[in-house]
Amino acid sequence: MPTHTDESAALGTLRQEVREFLMTLPATLRTELGGVDTWLSGWNIDFTRALAERGWIGMTIPREYGGHARTHLERFVVTEELLAAGAPVAAHWIADRQVAPTLLRFGTEEVRREFLPEIAAGRCYFGIGMSEPDSGSDLASVRTKAHRVDGGWTVSGTKLWTSGGHLAHAFIALVRTAPLDASDRHAGLSQLLVRLDDPGVDVRPVISAGGHHHFNEVVLDDVFVPDHRLVGEEGDGWMQVTSELSFERSGPERFLSTMQLFEQAMADPAVAENVADVDSGRQLARLAGLHEMSRAVAGSLQRGEEADVSAALVKVLGTTFEGDLAEWIDQSAGSASGVESRTKSLATRGVIQRPGFTLRGGTNEILRGVIARGLGMR
Ligand SMILES: Cc1cc2nc3c(=O)[nH]c(=O)nc-3n(C[C@H](O)[C@H](O)[C@H](O)COP(=O)(O)OP(=O)(O)OC[C@H]3O[C@@H](n4cnc5c(N)ncnc54)[C@H](O)[C@@H]3O)c2cc1C
Repeated sequence: MPTHTDESAALGTLRQEVREFLMTLPATLRTELGGVDTWLSGWNIDFTRALAERGWIGMTIPREYGGHARTHLERFVVTEELLAAGAPVAAHWIADRQVAPTLLRFGTEEVRREFLPEIAAGRCYFGIGMSEPDSGSDLASVRTKAHRVDGGWTVSGTKLWTSGGHLAHAFIALVRTAPLDASDRHAGLSQLLVRLDDPGVDVRPVISAGGHHHFNEVVLDDVFVPDHRLVGEEGDGWMQVTSELSFERSGPERFLSTMQLFEQAMADPAVAENVADVDSGRQLARLAGLHEMSRAVAGSLQRGEEADVSAALVKVLGTTFEGDLAEWIDQSAGSASGVESRTKSLATRGVIQRPGFTLRGGTNEILRGVIARGLGMR
């Protein structure tokens, strides 16, 4: 893991500012706090706009593109506080977390000017266009194809599991722009920014086992994408996606999805009396370790260092922790009488969501492979 720097007084002050902001929200927004897994499912445009007005979206985007020119560590502090409070941040999450850094590094000037100010203003939302019906873990097998045409590309294929695709304005699709070369499967892939209201785009709901509309299938049928929306260089898609995944995998959302459940359960006497201090202490120690690791990766990203291996490590350990926490509290709440229904409902939700914690953004099996390769073990 990269080394971390101690939190400065300025970062401590920023933490306090976020807490005060959350405590003084209008009642309609305050009632939206306190959920489990809200960074993926808590889509609330009013909250997003309030956050944007405070300058806490697009924090690392330079001022010339409408952002706030702050550091990754400052963004880390703000996001950690929002997640710990179970704030509904899903609308802007993907745009702020991974699309903005990707466009800053690889996007054309035209695309940066078109999208970054809107992202920072909390008005433009993105999905992720990676997975396909037969391509999840083996992402290099994507079959969505783009062909060169006059002034751009036409894209055809199907993306799947697109979180929030029905509410988002755009996604960055990983597509094949050259035929598959069996000796180098990572070659010939590119990233194209596709607006989800463009002609030929059909966003179809995929209803989850819990009855929610969160996922989508996005069918692309000869969708025209102008040249300036090619993100980075043609054929560099794999390298770019790997860099994007460092932002996707390393953040505090990978260990704080069930933080509100932890807080609620420890404040619920029926649960607190039913669990041994040593077990609560163990969970707290895991949380503290993950906080340090994730913060260290934020420092790495700030310095422009490669962080794919350390990000994978944070995601494997973090998502395992948040799932363990849900099951531990669910079991403890199950055997205690007088447990508040809020603890039970958060615990149930945490347990139901658990498989998603480790699947999304790359499964544990795949990430262990990334870590082993990074450490020279395979
Ligand atoms: C809540 C949630 C939100 C998501 N949101 C998005 C989104 O917005 N956009 C998007 O593009 N995708 C999204 N996904 C899809 C996600 O990225 C994939 O589910 C994930 O990459 C796994 O792919 P898969 O589902 O096809 O499973 P598979 O790849 O079919 O894997 C099935 C099982 O086999 C194991 N496995 C596969 N290959 C290997 C191997 N080589 N070695 C060992 N084990 C292996 C896996 O670990 C897994 O346990 C989301 C998923 C979830 C759960």
